[in-house]
Amino acid sequence: NVVSCVSMPRLLDHLIVLDFEATCDDVNPKAPQEIIEFPSVLLSAHTFEVVAEFESFVRPVHHPVLTPFCRELTGIEQAHVDGAPLFADVFAAHQAWLTQHGLPLEPGADGLPYAFVTCGDWDLKTMLPAQLQACDEVPNEPPAPYRQWINVKHPFRAATKQKRGATGMPHMLEKLGLELEGRHHRGIDDCRNIARLVRALAQQGSTFEITGALPALAPV
Ligand code: AMP
Ligand code: MG
Ligand code: MG
Repeated sequence: NVVSCVSMPRLLDHLIVLDFEATCDDVNPKAPQEIIEFPSVLLSAHTFEVVAEFESFVRPVHHPVLTPFCRELTGIEQAHVDGAPLFADVFAAHQAWLTQHGLPLEPGADGLPYAFVTCGDWDLKTMLPAQLQACDEVPNEPPAPYRQWINVKHPFRAATKQKRGATGMPHMLEKLGLELEGRHHRGIDDCRNIARLVRALAQQGSTFEITGALPALAPV
């Protein structure tokens, strides 16, 4: 069942669902917040089938001990992050994974042939820029592919004509008649569920266009 994905001005060949988990607490979380799970699900933007997955835990350095609240929320255990690589290595591995799947890191004349899909704007608008500020041996600014995204809440609202009210992932799944699979707030499970949302929306005729972006980088 092939459905097309039109994004003006260019046709996207792939969508990459991304959902960070980060250090947190119920009250007064310690700054800086750091990424502890970095997962992605690569989808064909023509068939909406899963092409590949990327997943890594990340070892936080500013606050290396996870709070009980954070462990309970995400299901991520202390041992997962203790044994994990540092953010700089995981970020490099993620870009190597993009390259391995033929996805360019530099836009061509008509942009990139793929885009990230997130649930909300937080992952690429807030968390990744904050992470790059909080850690050494990474660029200060997100590279081009990570500077724009598709917030799945936009096509969801358009498809369901829902102007206001809940747009949490569990709510969106339920509205589209899908069960939440795995554990909510585990990054890889969130990615897989968001990917299922994307596929369901595509099958109903939704198209996927960039909904948010960081300011253009100053030319070097
Ligand atoms: P999510 O993608 O919704 O699982 O959330 C991403 C990150 O946001 C989590 O790893 C937490 O750091 C933070 N977060 C999500 N929900 C909460 C919550 N109810 N209280 C505190 N932090 C949260
Ligand atoms: Mg999320
Ligand atoms: Mg999540």
